[in-house]
Amino acid sequence: MNKSYDVIIIGGGVNGCSIAYYLALEGRSVLLLEREKLACKASSAAAGMLGAQVEVTEEGALFDLAKESRGMFPSLQYELKEHSGIDIELVQKGMLKLAMNDEEAGHLKRTISFQQKLGERAEWLAREQVAEREGQLSDSLLGAMDIPMDGHVNPERLTHAFANSAVKHGAEVKEYVEVYSLLREKKTVKGVETSIGMFYGEHVVVAAGAWSKRLLSECGVTVPAYPVKGECFSVITDRPLLSSTIFSESCYLVPKSGNRLVIGATMIPDTFSENVTVGGLYQLMEEAARVLPAVKYATFERFWSGIRPQTGDGHPYLGQHPTYKNLVIATGHYRNGILLSPITGKLVTKIIQDDPIPVYMEAFKLDRLKEYARGE
Ligand SMILES: Cc1cc2nc3c(=O)[nH]c(=O)nc-3n(C[C@H](O)[C@H](O)[C@H](O)COP(=O)(O)OP(=O)(O)OC[C@H]3O[C@@H](n4cnc5c(N)ncnc54)[C@H](O)[C@@H]3O)c2cc1C
Repeated sequence: MNKSYDVIIIGGGVNGCSIAYYLALEGRSVLLLEREKLACKASSAAAGMLGAQVEVTEEGALFDLAKESRGMFPSLQYELKEHSGIDIELVQKGMLKLAMNDEEAGHLKRTISFQQKLGERAEWLAREQVAEREGQLSDSLLGAMDIPMDGHVNPERLTHAFANSAVKHGAEVKEYVEVYSLLREKKTVKGVETSIGMFYGEHVVVAAGAWSKRLLSECGVTVPAYPVKGECFSVITDRPLLSSTIFSESCYLVPKSGNRLVIGATMIPDTFSENVTVGGLYQLMEEAARVLPAVKYATFERFWSGIRPQTGDGHPYLGQHPTYKNLVIATGHYRNGILLSPITGKLVTKIIQDDPIPVYMEAFKLDRLKEYARGE
């Protein structure tokens, strides 16, 4: 009979690997199964922004979750470096969210005011102040929201750093193993059936990103989740054009090491196709050049796409299955799965260990899906 584990994790993206890491740190025996290579899907397509304030524009549980996760990165970079030898390339040079018209300016000013009330650092910069900071930006912008605390990382390195650190603490990681189904008995999941046989575990975690819905539907829960494709490209410039990350309504530009700019991303719902279209790239290039005219002279490097896991209400699903209590779901991180990966790993570990979780995290439980649970 195959070995039995404390926890089997399905999915080797950033969230599956983070969960493996935090569980392994607690001394749990962990098996992580990935049907292709680690970080082969959304987790390598991402730009790696830690956009707690740039992305979440309303007060609420998601904002709290995002801030808490962002706050974990400064110490995590050293922790993961020590365990795995991998530098996650954390950059903390802030973000500017641009307003190109009056409506966007009004919206940003309201966002600044709610974030300041909650004690966050955010400030309105007039056009001249923006130009002093970032001299290459278009002079047609009206101003920008200055967000000093939102940074970025290298998402692929982060995923591998979590995985290698988990392995260092005893976790097993198997690539090219596809989970076909969950082995269920009464109200328990006993393990998984895979392309190389059965594996048994006390707990099973579904962290299969946009592909989680199919595995869950087997257990009688139809989660209102859907894929959203994002296309990106990168360029190399002969000198640095930006120091902060630039975010506008229609594109973002993230300055990486080696004078590389990552430019993204389109939003195409309801497709698992990872093709990159001329239309998608054309739209991004046009928007990027509108914001940063000098990008037209940059050297094109490469293009790619990824599939984001979105949910019905825009909040991730982080919690126990309503019927199968030893089945934990961690998906639906949409545009913020890199940012939310440390807190996801911590939270899932707490759930599995039956440790108390902060009250605001209740908002991510699957209980909110009662109307979708067919029950068994
Ligand atoms: C273009 C783009 C830009 C983005 N930019 C950012 C950003 O700047 N900041 C940010 O925070 N987020 C960003 N995101 C979102 C982020 O990438 C995702 O939210 C995050 O990567 C999701 O991670 P995950 O581990 O949940 O899923 P994934 O990375 O998709 O991993 C799921 C894994 O499960 C595996 N799998 C699926 N089914 C099975 C099965 N049956 N058996 C075994 N394995 C299986 C898949 O092969 C895959 O490797 C971006 C996304 C895209 C597409």
